[in-house]
Amino acid sequence: MTGNPLLAELARAPRLIPWRNWSGAQSCLPLARLAPKDLDELVQVVRQAPGKIRPVGSGHSFSALVPTDGTLLSLSFFSGLLDHDAATLQAEFAAGTPMSRMGAPLKAIGQALPNMADIDYQTLAGAIATSTHGTGVGFPSYSAQVRGLQLVTASGEVLDCDSNRHAEVFNAARVSLGALGVATRVRLQNRPAYRLRERQWIAKTEELLEDVAKNTRENQHWEMLVVTHSDYALSIALNETADPATPPTDPAQEGGNEFVSLIENLDKYVSDFPETRRVLLNNLRHFANFQDRVGDSYEIYANVRSVRFNEMEYSVPAEHGPACLREILKLIRDKDLRTWFPIEYRYVRADDIPLSMFEGRDSCSISVHQHYGMDHHNFFAAVEPIFWKYAGRPHWGKLHGLNARQLQALYPRWREFTQVREALDPTGKFLNAHLSSILGVA
Ligand SMILES: Cc1cc2nc3c(=O)[nH]c(=O)nc-3n(C[C@H](O)[C@H](O)[C@H](O)COP(=O)(O)OP(=O)(O)OC[C@H]3O[C@@H](n4cnc5c(N)ncnc54)[C@H](O)[C@@H]3O)c2cc1C
Repeated sequence: MTGNPLLAELARAPRLIPWRNWSGAQSCLPLARLAPKDLDELVQVVRQAPGKIRPVGSGHSFSALVPTDGTLLSLSFFSGLLDHDAATLQAEFAAGTPMSRMGAPLKAIGQALPNMADIDYQTLAGAIATSTHGTGVGFPSYSAQVRGLQLVTASGEVLDCDSNRHAEVFNAARVSLGALGVATRVRLQNRPAYRLRERQWIAKTEELLEDVAKNTRENQHWEMLVVTHSDYALSIALNETADPATPPTDPAQEGGNEFVSLIENLDKYVSDFPETRRVLLNNLRHFANFQDRVGDSYEIYANVRSVRFNEMEYSVPAEHGPACLREILKLIRDKDLRTWFPIEYRYVRADDIPLSMFEGRDSCSISVHQHYGMDHHNFFAAVEPIFWKYAGRPHWGKLHGLNARQLQALYPRWREFTQVREALDPTGKFLNAHLSSILGVA
């Protein structure tokens, strides 16, 4: 091979390794994919990398936050529990720690996260970058639990930030979209370890909506998965308990996966017959058989999502949640929109972080999904104006069609974030095309 100069040249050329996100809708061919081993190496990379840099976590964002043709920077070597304080119940983790590897070490020190999202594949830094959340009117997003973080800025400076040190940077960096630098360590406010009981039942969506106040008051974490083209939803309630753990179940059977597969199959055969479909979907409830699960909190929150999809989620003021959902369901029915994935309906407490979807308002988060093999563009485009009507803010990690001008109007503290970004990264080292568009950088 070395005898041929062209082939020898090819062998010397840098090997480009493509990247794609979980759903497959986002991809890129970065010039380099780097995973520094420690802080010194990371600082060198940030100082010396030619062109743009995008930090990447587990690639579980649906939106184009990550793609770059420059350097894709993974913190996979920055993993694990670093420090903790038994008195304050705070713990510091390396920023690249997958959330799935946080529950057990936290339990060993008697701590737990107060709430969790419905999967735990995300990294800690990735999750807080987009204000990732679970459900519960009394519970804010992960970002609101952050008490301190370390950030490597575009100049290679290492900033230890909290409410006293670099307070403005800290506040903005709690939801950063990865646009302020690379987070290396994150300190979280936790609570004592606890067990949860999960109870699931199927009920009419309209009845669940009428009982929203009761469901959210009586359950610490309540949500529903609304079966589109039917009149029913799967209602899920998680509450703290001192009861002993139930025997472990097959993770593939949890989180409604079996139910989702049933609906998928049904859609294949009857989507051309809307009334038959509705009757069949409505009767699926007779086959449902849910057993309560009790276990460590982190085991109960996390689900396995075995069917891939794309997702759009908006958070509307909490009081508008029911009206917004009703309008979406009416549109899907009236226009017979092609979709079968359930709609997720959750509540999140307000916080004070400039770019958090929950800044200044208790919110109801509504997510619409489309199987990854089906076109999501037309479906999401049809639904999105309903979210706009209710002043919805799109989840930063999920698909949406807004640009900086529209987003700015939804975030009263927008300038607090953009000023910090301009000061930390005046040349836009941490931007890509999507971030330039949503942050309004030429
Ligand atoms: C199946 C599935 C279920 C989901 N469930 C939920 C849910 O229940 N609730 C919810 O709110 N969201 C949910 N999401 C969305 C997901 O939590 C967010 O998109 C999250 O940001 C993904 O984290 P990640 O580690 O995969 O990061 P990536 O998607 O890889 O990156 C996300 C952002 O983090 C930045 N980033 C990563 N590492 C760093 C770092 N070290 N420093 C600075 N910035 C960094 C990236 O640049 C990017 O801007 C779900 C997604 C999927 C695919």
